[in-house]
Amino acid sequence: MPKSFYITTPIYYVNASPHIGHAYTTIVADVLARYHRMYGAETFFVTGTDEHGDKIAEAAQKAGVTPQEYADKISAQFRSLWPELSITNDYFIRTTDTNHIETVRNILQKVYDSGDIYFGSYGGNYCFGCERFLTEKEIVDNKCPEHGREPQYIEEKNYFFKMSKYQDWLIDYIKKHPDFIRPERYKNEVLAFLRDPLDDLCISRPKTRLQWGITLPFDENYVTYVWFDALINYITALNYPHGDKFKKFWPAAQHLIAKDILKPHGIYWPTMLKAAGIEPYRHLNVHGYWNSDQSKMSKSLGNVVRPLDLKDKYGLDAFRYFLLRDMVFGLDSNFSEEAFVKRLNSDLANDLGNLVSRTITMTIKYCDGKVPQSNYKKKDSVLHKAALKTVAEVEASFNDMSLHKALIAIWNFINVTNKYIVEKEPWTLGKDPANREKLIAIMYDLLMALQAIAILISPFMPQAAGKILQQIGVDESKKLTLASVYKENVLTAGNPLTRGESLFPRISRENNS
Ligand SMILES: [Zn+2]
Repeated sequence: MPKSFYITTPIYYVNASPHIGHAYTTIVADVLARYHRMYGAETFFVTGTDEHGDKIAEAAQKAGVTPQEYADKISAQFRSLWPELSITNDYFIRTTDTNHIETVRNILQKVYDSGDIYFGSYGGNYCFGCERFLTEKEIVDNKCPEHGREPQYIEEKNYFFKMSKYQDWLIDYIKKHPDFIRPERYKNEVLAFLRDPLDDLCISRPKTRLQWGITLPFDENYVTYVWFDALINYITALNYPHGDKFKKFWPAAQHLIAKDILKPHGIYWPTMLKAAGIEPYRHLNVHGYWNSDQSKMSKSLGNVVRPLDLKDKYGLDAFRYFLLRDMVFGLDSNFSEEAFVKRLNSDLANDLGNLVSRTITMTIKYCDGKVPQSNYKKKDSVLHKAALKTVAEVEASFNDMSLHKALIAIWNFINVTNKYIVEKEPWTLGKDPANREKLIAIMYDLLMALQAIAILISPFMPQAAGKILQQIGVDESKKLTLASVYKENVLTAGNPLTRGESLFPRISRENNS
């Protein structure tokens, strides 16, 4: 486990309000950050908003406000959403922040001085949706397939970054670091793209056409292309070049993105870093889309799922659980409220909720409402063995970003524990006082299992984890780590047990029409 862990989400473009895709990326980042903090790794978690460029200028004009006013409004929506989803980011960056503007100008000047930026003329088909020139290959039926509109032929003088110069280096780097871009399908996609000659990247826009951007340090008639500006946020956040955070967290950076922005992150960003004399990031982690009724969610299709509606309707933990459990990281997933309710009822209300409530009820009954003093022997405990196996599986799943597998492993343990209750029949043992010692050892073992479950689910469902710990009398301020999953010093004999409200009430179909 690394000593320091740096996790970023993309900085979200402020041309639209947050939807489930934004929520998913940010919740995954939050789960990773919480998990690494639990391990005692020094963790820095950054999210933020991307605020320059054509699209923002256009949207602001439509709304009849200045681009800055427009960006302030949407950025604030993102910023206020995250605490409601229990997101624990350490920093929120905006590309209109002064320190970011300085960093972008610093990098531009550095790359310009080293000779990797030149002035040239370029004519091409420009998509205002993509905010870039499209290649012939990308144009389908005279249209940009992503935006469904015809690109405009534009010819103008601009500044270019010699990206082509780094093509061979990048191919080589990706081949030598097979998990640089993961899952593998996205590495292969980038390599496939690099089979064709890489064009240089147009990194400026003339102010005659666009003013809303960062002025180039070497020509005040131009602003910076929005991607060259936005990607640099990942090092601005660490106070590049002299900040302690930069020394501590770079290059051990984990970027998390959705697949639509693979090209800027997989090609532009590493070559920009190389040109600026900065080591590449450690991993680019790429996830798929949340679809709704098999088509991509989009404002124009009117099938956008609003994260706060779901949270309000079903609770935050259930929402976080569903997103993490139902999407195989890297693949697309279909969102359906029906599937959500089914998981909530089976995994959360039935498997987990019932386990907690019946264990607490029985221990209160058989152990005078307190954590019992037990002669329990760890080495004899099947639950202990199962818990250790689960921890190993959870660790492996986090290491290769298969977070759904971590949840599957935890639920296997929950089911082993449920089965243990059925097999041991504490209610039968409770009928005869001669069985008291045996009964107490079983109840103690079950409380230990709840302790393990609470710790294991805490990165995913922090509120439910807290409620379980409270019910088994564990002081929440106690520093809990994965190593303490089955440690006996967490539960304190004699501490009172409390029966809480149902963790996950069942949703009946009638309520959910
Ligand atoms: Zn486009």
